Amino acid sequence: MLQGQCLCGDVKFRITAPLTHASACHCDQCRQWSGHYWATGRTKQNDLVIENGSESIAWYPERHAERGFCVICGSSLFYRQIDAASEHVAVSLGAIKGDTGIELSRHIFVREKGDYYQLPAEAETYEGDDE
Ligand SMILES: [Zn+2]
Ligand SMILES: [Zn+2]
Repeated sequence: MLQGQCLCGDVKFRITAPLTHASACHCDQCRQWSGHYWATGRTKQNDLVIENGSESIAWYPERHAERGFCVICGSSLFYRQIDAASEHVAVSLGAIKGDTGIELSRHIFVREKGDYYQLPAEAETYEGDDE
């Protein structure tokens, strides 16, 4: 089980199933929102348990998705499709406390990557989404 929190610690959560699809997203929106490319893992919404600070999570709407963040400290935390049929949520790997056991090898939307950094040599890259 993984545990995570935002920078100020008001939002605390745990994830009761293994995270899958660990990936770094280089799209314009993720870079603007997080400050760089954004690393996430995926879980089912039912497996993400908010233990504290659920009232401090606000959702920024995009066209087909929304981004969850802490209204107190601004930490980028979650991303989910608005589509009611979607049962998954992406969780910021930077919010996980301690060791994750996750290897970040998939780099997605590299066609939108910034010109100010290089991809790791061993990166598994995708021009857009990975599926
Ligand atoms: Zn916070
Ligand atoms: Zn992205």
